[in-house]
This record gives sequence, C-alpha cells and structure tokens, in this order.
Amino acid sequence: MRVTRAAAAAAAFLAAAAGLSACGLGGTEEETVADKQSLVIGVKEDQPALGVKGPDGTYKGFDVDVATYIAGKLGIPESRLTFKTTNSSVREEALANGTVDIIVATYSITATRKMKVTFAGPYYVAHQDTFVRADDTSINDVRDLKGKRICAVTGSNSWRRVIEERKVAAEPVTVDTYGACMDALAGGRLDAVSTDDLIVAGFAAGRPGRMINAPFTDEKYGVGIKKGDLKGCEEINRAITAMYQDGTAKRLLDKWFGDSGLKLTTSVPQFEGCK
Ligand code: GLU
Repeated sequence: MRVTRAAAAAAAFLAAAAGLSACGLGGTEEETVADKQSLVIGVKEDQPALGVKGPDGTYKGFDVDVATYIAGKLGIPESRLTFKTTNSSVREEALANGTVDIIVATYSITATRKMKVTFAGPYYVAHQDTFVRADDTSINDVRDLKGKRICAVTGSNSWRRVIEERKVAAEPVTVDTYGACMDALAGGRLDAVSTDDLIVAGFAAGRPGRMINAPFTDEKYGVGIKKGDLKGCEEINRAITAMYQDGTAKRLLDKWFGDSGLKLTTSVPQFEGCK
C-alpha cells in the first residue's frame, strides 16, 4: 500500500513537472539572458572600429569586444557566441522576435526605444558630431546643417537629433547604414554625416574628410535585451562595472580609438537603471 501510494505520488509529480514545462514554466531559465547557455548577439557589420564583418564572416570592433566580455561574465564562452548583423532599422524587432538575444550596436538608449526594449548600461557615452568633405568649410556647427543634405539612416536617431530636437531645417537623405552614408558623402550625394563621434572616428581613419568637432548630444550606448528581462539587465550592469574596474574598458577604448584624437572617458558611466 505504502509503495503504491509513493509510486502514485511520484507519477503525479512527474506529470505535474511535465505539465509545467509544457506550458512554459519549466523554461524559466530561457527567459533571461543571464541563464542562457549560448547567445546570439546583434552587432553592426559596416562600422569600422565598432562592428565590422570580415570576408571570413567574423566580426571585429569595440562593440564586438564589449559583447564578448559581457557574455564571458554571464558565463558564456566565445565558442558559444554567434554574431549577427543587426542594422539600425531592425533592432527593436530583432529583440522582440528573438532573432537576437542581445544587441551591442551603437544603440543609444532613448525614451522611445525604452518602450520596446530593456537597456542595460550605458557601457559608453558617445556624443554626436558631424563629418563633412575635407574641402567643405561651410559646416562648422550643427546650425550650419540648415539647407544641407544630411544622412538619415533608417531606424537611427541621429538625423532626428538635428531636425527634430535641434530644429535645424536640414534635408534628410534616407539610406540603410552608416557605411552607405559615407559612400554617399564621398560621392557628393550628401553634404554631411551627423552621428556619434565614435562612428565618425571609426570611418575617418580610412577616409578623407573632416569631423567638425562640435559635439552636441550624449549618446548613451545601451545593451539592448528583450523588454522586461530585468535579471539579465542587472547582471549585464554588473559585467559593465567589472569591465571598467578591471581595466578592460580602458584597454578596449585605447585599442579601437586610441589614435582617433577623441577624448575617451574611462570611468564607468552612470547607469540608466533597469526598468
Ligand atoms: N547611436 C545612434 C542611434 O542609436 C546612431 C547610431 C546607430 O543608429 O546605430 O540611433
């Protein structure tokens, strides 16, 4: 009788456990990036020094190194990371539908994006500046963009900072990526590329042209994760703190931007808080 009852209890327990995992509760560990065994990481593929995809398919850059460090702190080795090109126009959607687990891709934390994405960090604060052709002396401040053709990357915030926030009546020319912006500038189809100084600095190293050195925003680069993953956000913030405290952030900034002439900040940024 005892045995029978114990067996019945065990069977009931197993059935309940199966039921739980069938309805998703057993999969709780998959609901936070903090408990994942592998990660798909969204990065850029055409932003020198930040995220570049090489001919062999591997990705390189500051964002790639930051993502690799954070993943390591979450207990996920490089061998279990998959990098995936995630352009500005698809970032929110890629997190929401699970195409990527996290995004480290010059992704500024903004109030609008926070409605759809949980952001850890920032892991760095960049500032918007403007890149022009070397022979163009007419643009020296964001106000000089009035009447000029500026690059408007779909899904990116930079052109909005000029036209909507600063109310400078520039003419937006829509393209897909910042690499395409730089080509359009060189080809005379645009007058200026106004975006984060880190992005401009990365391109400037390999192209003629001039950064006007008139920064006018704070671009808080966040680590985007699925909306509501607060545990993941907190763990990533701990990883970012460690990255600054153990000297990795300074080393990576020097590695990728040491020759850029930018004034690099090597103290841990003020976090936004996980919400
Ligand atoms: N940081 C800006 C943004 O998130 C510009 C760069 C980008 O689009 O990746 O909108």
